[in-house]
Amino acid sequence: MVFNRCHLRGLVPVLGPVILTAACTAQAPAGAPAAAQPASSSVPAQPGTKWTDQQLQSAVAPVRAGRKLTPASWPNHAKVAVCLSFDVDNESFTLARGTTAPAVLSAGEFGAMAGLPRILDVLDRNQLPASFYIPAVSAMLHPQMVQDIVKRGRHEVGVHGWIHENLPELNDAAEEERLMNQAIEYLTKVTGARPVGYRAPSWAFSKHTMGLIRKAGFTYDSSLMAMDEPYELMSDGQSTGLIELPVEWILDDAPYFGSSGSLPSPDLIFRVYRDEFDRAYQEGTMLMLTMHPHVSGHRSRIVHLENLIAYMKAKPDVWFATAAQIASVVKGAGEDSTR
Ligand SMILES: [Zn+2]
Repeated sequence: MVFNRCHLRGLVPVLGPVILTAACTAQAPAGAPAAAQPASSSVPAQPGTKWTDQQLQSAVAPVRAGRKLTPASWPNHAKVAVCLSFDVDNESFTLARGTTAPAVLSAGEFGAMAGLPRILDVLDRNQLPASFYIPAVSAMLHPQMVQDIVKRGRHEVGVHGWIHENLPELNDAAEEERLMNQAIEYLTKVTGARPVGYRAPSWAFSKHTMGLIRKAGFTYDSSLMAMDEPYELMSDGQSTGLIELPVEWILDDAPYFGSSGSLPSPDLIFRVYRDEFDRAYQEGTMLMLTMHPHVSGHRSRIVHLENLIAYMKAKPDVWFATAAQIASVVKGAGEDSTR
């Protein structure tokens, strides 16, 4: 069985930060017959079964994987690039849905109050860089967080929506662009540098997102999953010039550790992360780990994160880098310079 976001929605309905709603909704491709549109109770449950070859091609064309972009070698001849990334969602996704229940908000607030400081301490002790994708509202509610991240001088701050808005649900190009620009402007102001990286809230693109992140001039995206190494993003058969630094649900803490998580044992989960690292090391590619301060910042999990870091650091030739640094290395890599 393919384990996708639809399955996640069924398994862990209250994960909030990562669970999709509209992403699992069928979206008819251009030219699909009107009967395939989800407009009434008579709409077939599986409209794709009626689509023509052309309609199927149209359905997948807007966002596609192009060339692999893993370079022939990483800096200092490292065997693998490792990016520790953190989505600093905190209360944002809850507020986006209009929920103001104090107990629910406090579980997100934990990310700012306890989770992030703990994570920054671990990174300091190990002198490692990381990428932090911050909804602007998270930064606004806890201004100290951004200061604490930036003052380290080795971390990256990337865009993760204005308020962790669900873009497929929003389904409005102008509104999505307004929120994206507002987020870029806010993070630029509080970090002193314009973000070069984008990660869609819940990793969910709307049909407008690709065009908007190109227009905004991002160097890379980190929301998609077509490979487990850097690749070129294509749209309608053309290169977009954007680099994808892919994520994966099996390398995300929230499906496992959310309040209805499917596998609560940190030991098992971090064994998965370690196996992913070992094979990435063997293949010479990249490990992108996605964690959340309000999820992995808990005591019983941070212990395992630190153990994983120790395991990876014990291997020779591991390059720990921000996603922006990785994107900078792979940028412009052509067929002959890739593996
Ligand atoms: Zn998020």
